[in-house]
Amino acid sequence: MPTRGIYLFDVARFPVYLDTSGLIFIGLILLLQMGGGGVLGILGAFLWIVAIYGSILAHELGHAVVGRRLGYGTADIYLSFFGGVAVWSGRTSRSRRDQLLVTLAGPAVNVVLCILFYLLMRFPPLFVGMLVPSLQGLIGDLYWINLILAVFNILPIYPLDGGQALRTALAYRIRGSRLLRISLQVSFATLGLVMLYAVLNSRIFLVIMLAQIAFQNWQEWQQVRR
Ligand SMILES: [Zn+2]
Repeated sequence: MPTRGIYLFDVARFPVYLDTSGLIFIGLILLLQMGGGGVLGILGAFLWIVAIYGSILAHELGHAVVGRRLGYGTADIYLSFFGGVAVWSGRTSRSRRDQLLVTLAGPAVNVVLCILFYLLMRFPPLFVGMLVPSLQGLIGDLYWINLILAVFNILPIYPLDGGQALRTALAYRIRGSRLLRISLQVSFATLGLVMLYAVLNSRIFLVIMLAQIAFQNWQEWQQVRR
């Protein structure tokens, strides 16, 4: 459960909050992006933040809108450190089919946006280059951000969407602690592969995030291995 943080606005009747880790993330982006200096540096940093949090918000809205349709009630959406979460206020212990639909709706939104921005990049409408030259760069950024969000969330790493979907899908066949053990083993193996990629390519942000998830997985492993 995230700390409440700052209330931002409502989208489709879902209240959206920015939590403390999100504030730290924005501070870091401002520091990194403002290296260019001047008004352009500030504008660039601002556009980056809007692009990243716009894409994360679209992902969470995917979960929230499909959940509401399936009778989950309403959700508070929290934006945090390069991520977000939809916290339900109602009962969420629905059928496995509903759980899978709600879980997969988030990454599905990023896949659709990724394809859309790719098409805009390949076949830019005339006005894009003419009116705002920097819009082309922003479309490229949005393509990459949504590609990363889609791929990262579909990996079978717990508690990311892919890991949760795997757990729900496995629950059709396996139950209890064996289910948790297998899903954690798959999660560890995937974490190892992505960590290798991150270290070999010096992706420091990714290494920190993976290490944090690995620690969570290890804590859960301690409880279920007995
Ligand atoms: Zn998600």
